[in-house]
Order: sequence, then C-alpha cells, then structure tokens
Amino acid sequence: MNEMTKVTEAAENSINRPQPKAGVLDIAPYVPGKSKGTHGKTVHKLSSNETPLGTSAAARAALEAVAQHLELYPDGSSSDLRAAIGEVYGLNPDRIICGAGSDEILSLVAYGYLGAGDEAIYSEHGFLVYDIAIRAAGATPVVAPEKDLTTDVDAILARVTDKTRMVFIANPNNPTGTYLPFGEVKRLHEGLPPHVLLVLDAAYGEYVRKNDYESGIELAATSDNVFMTRTFSKIYGLANLRLGWGFGAAHIIDALNRIRGPFNVSGMAGAAGIAAVKDREFVARSVEHNERWLPWLTAELEGLGLKVTPSVGNFVLIHFPDEDGKRAPDADAYLLERGCVLRMVGNYGLPNAIRMTVGSEDANRTVVAHLKAFLEQA
Ligand SMILES: *Cc1c(COP(=O)(O)O)cnc(C)c1O
Repeated sequence: MNEMTKVTEAAENSINRPQPKAGVLDIAPYVPGKSKGTHGKTVHKLSSNETPLGTSAAARAALEAVAQHLELYPDGSSSDLRAAIGEVYGLNPDRIICGAGSDEILSLVAYGYLGAGDEAIYSEHGFLVYDIAIRAAGATPVVAPEKDLTTDVDAILARVTDKTRMVFIANPNNPTGTYLPFGEVKRLHEGLPPHVLLVLDAAYGEYVRKNDYESGIELAATSDNVFMTRTFSKIYGLANLRLGWGFGAAHIIDALNRIRGPFNVSGMAGAAGIAAVKDREFVARSVEHNERWLPWLTAELEGLGLKVTPSVGNFVLIHFPDEDGKRAPDADAYLLERGCVLRMVGNYGLPNAIRMTVGSEDANRTVVAHLKAFLEQA
C-alpha cells in the first residue's frame, strides 16, 4: 500500500465511523489529582481535598450491613437518605435529589437545561467540571474574569446575553479557596433574568466559618431559579463511594428526576450517607481540625516567603516565586520525589501555583519542612 492510499483510507475511516455529537471532542478530559509520588511512593496524598480524618465509624458499619445483600437493587428514590439530609439541614426532602457525587448532579442540571445554541457562564478559575458538563450538553461555555482570584459578580452579569441559560458558581471556589459573601450572591441572583438558572456549588460549605457566608439554602428555598449542590466527598469522607445531592424548587427536582438513571445512588453509598450525615460529632471534629490547621498552614507558608490566597475551604492555593528553579513545577517535582502529592493547577489558568489539601498534623508539618528546604537550596 502506498502513502497516498493510506492517507485516503484514514480520511474515509473517520467519515465512516460513528462521530460524537458537536462539542464532545472539544472537551478537555478532567485530570484528577495524582495519587502517587515519584517511584510509586506516596507518603501524604494532599491532591484532591479529601479529609485526613477518614470516615465516620457509623458510616463504615452501615456499609458492612448493606454488603451482605449486594444482589438487591437499591431504593431508586433514595428516600431514607433524602429524609436524613432533610432532617439535618432543615430541608423538605421532596426538594432534594441525590446522585453519584455532585459531579453527576452538575451533569444532570446541564443536560436538563442546556442544549445547542445556549450559553452557560462560569468564572475564570472555576471548577472545571462545569466546562465539561456545559460542553457535553452541547452548549457553549462563557468564562467571566475574576478579581483577586475571586468570583466577580459584575463580570458575570456583563456576560449575560439572550442566549444565557445558566450560571455556575462554586462557593467557596476550588482551587482558589475564596468565597462570595451572601450579599454578593444575592446581588448576582437579582441581576439575572428569571429564566437563567443559578447553580451554587457548596461542596466546601460545611468548612466555612464566616458570618457573611451562606451556602445557598436560603436562596434555593425561596427562588424558582436557584439550585444548590452538595457533596459527601469532602467533609464526610466518602469520596470513594460517590455521593452528592442537590436542593432546589420542586419543578427543578422534577425535571432532573426524569433524566437521571433509575438507580443512580448505590445502596452502599445511600446507607453510608445516612449514617455519615447523622454523625454530627465527626463533622464537628473535621471542622475543628480545619480551623486549627488552615491558619497554621497559611501562616507557616507565608513565613517561608510564599504567597497564599486566603482560603475558607480545606485547602490552600500556594503561589511560587517567578524564579528559575523555584517555580511551582520545580516545587511539585521536589515534593513528589519525597512522596508528598499536591495538585498542580495549570489547567485552571494558575501555572505558578500549587493547591494543597489541609492534611493531618504530620502531613502539614512534613510539607512545610520540605518546602522550607526546597526554597533554601541554592
Ligand atoms: C470536590 C468538589 C466537588 C465534589 O465532587 P463529587 O462528585 O461530589 O465528589 C464538587 N464541586 C467542587 C467545586 C469540588 O471541589
């Protein structure tokens, strides 16, 4: 076969095989945090904002009970789980939907409300799952610039057109750790046309200790166009099971229930979630741990001369000097060599920063000591 025939064949093959719908091949696949250091060795994994406190013992016990009957389908409407969430958060369970992680909930809301020709806005350093969900639904993402690594309400409102159908905000945001006070969220909501759905992703809501913060419950309870998402992956320590939920007006929940998989939450996830959400002592300990180590990490890293974006979540964004041998990729390689796995955030438009999850005392002290040595080397 000559070169010419090969080229023609390749072109024909790509025409004759199934083609993904428009937009799918423009999606940059999500890159999860690394789990291994150099040489396959992991001492501390601080790359995915997982809790260092493990999982509630009650949740593990609940899992074991369900594991005795893996042959049974789970409850397709997650009613006991929704009742437990409703009780703990003070919400009407009929206005809750559960899913395989909040990632699934975010995809459902995009598939339910977005299509070709629609636009959805998210902010410059916003969570990249929004971009994937918007494009997968066939719609066009519109990116609003931020101010001081913080969501800018005016920049979002300035980008609303008659094609806009949705706005995604992570509050607090990942990977920056910054948040919008409730007054700003309300101003954003008031500035949006009533047919635009405001999605408030409060994956880190339980960690925030600020008087002017509200996760979105109040707005989602009282508005027709606000939907809040939450997760069991972060403070509840159940990332491995894939469990998240959303809360909003009955008409939104109704639409999403029509398009979700009939058994989208496994019985294992559901049972563990019920036990985890009721274990308030575990949650309180997690908050306490974060309240102790988030300021400690921030102060220690600043003490090394590094810039740290003020965070209200369970992670910090660390900025490195623009100097040969001292940039973020150099620091990342240095830490990986020592088994400390953090998160590079170049794909979030932050090529000289690294995100670090607040870890155990040992993990936090070890990383700070390594970074001190890294910055001191000639
Ligand atoms: C971690 C995270 C989530 C949670 O995703 P799950 O699918 O529930 O594990 C959602 N949003 C943001 C901003 C996150 O950082």
